[in-house]
Amino acid sequence: MNRVALVTGASRGIGRAIAAELAEAGHAVCINYLTHRQEAETLAEKIRNHGGNAIAVQADVADRAAVETMVRTAEAELGPVSLLVNNAGIAGQIQFQDITDAQWNRYLGVNLGGARNTIQAVLPHMLHEKAGCIVNISSIWGLRGASCEVAYACTKAALVGLAPSHIRVNCVAPGVINTDMVQVLGQETLRDLAEQTPLGRLGTPEDVAHAVAFLASDKASFLTGQILAADGGFIV
Ligand code: NAP
Repeated sequence: MNRVALVTGASRGIGRAIAAELAEAGHAVCINYLTHRQEAETLAEKIRNHGGNAIAVQADVADRAAVETMVRTAEAELGPVSLLVNNAGIAGQIQFQDITDAQWNRYLGVNLGGARNTIQAVLPHMLHEKAGCIVNISSIWGLRGASCEVAYACTKAALVGLAPSHIRVNCVAPGVINTDMVQVLGQETLRDLAEQTPLGRLGTPEDVAHAVAFLASDKASFLTGQILAADGGFIV
């Protein structure tokens, strides 16, 4: 079977590591990005130079029409999408009582609406084939909630509930992973968070990518509806 993966938000951080690992595992990869075109193009080129197949496609996952166009582009250039990784996400520290309508709608639109848009776009082919694999990147904050990140935590909790039938749908819930997203917390807080992590360090994007690659592999062919926390034991 033709193995084509679409990874959203793959220009940087966790998504980038996921796209690289899936390419190594033999998938043709559609690298979605929002603003960092150069990074996405460079990764696609690197994969092609190593004998793989990859394209970079811009789309705001919150924009349903843009997602449709992206998926049709991926199908035309790589083949039908058999593996979808919903990784694109935004986070931010805001007190719940201060969240504006625009901020709330944007969190929901990107983190949850984005997954809805991509799933709906790839679903017709997966349903037709009665096969397919979807991995949604949630968060430990989606499993336990988080102060100052309530809107983010709500969207990540909702992702756990997304599960169409005949298709394997699993979640990876990363702990604190050292990417651009968490730099806003500052070095002192990041050191504290590493100390609070039973395995004694922050995660790397590759730690999450390994979990995604496992769930996407044939070794996980009887696993669906699962949440794999790649968190160094943070919420044990
Ligand atoms: P990051 O370093 O901030 O990177 C975010 C990625 O998402 C970038 O590639 C960005 O694209 C893309 N993106 C953002 N909004 C988008 C949109 N509307 N449409 C398409 N792409 C969009 O984040 P990260 O730390 O790698 O996090 C990746 C995922 O893991 C997120 O869903 C996050 O919630 C989740 N997560 C992260 C952590 C952590 O500690 N880092 C923990 C738990 C869960 P451009 O760069 O092209 O704009």
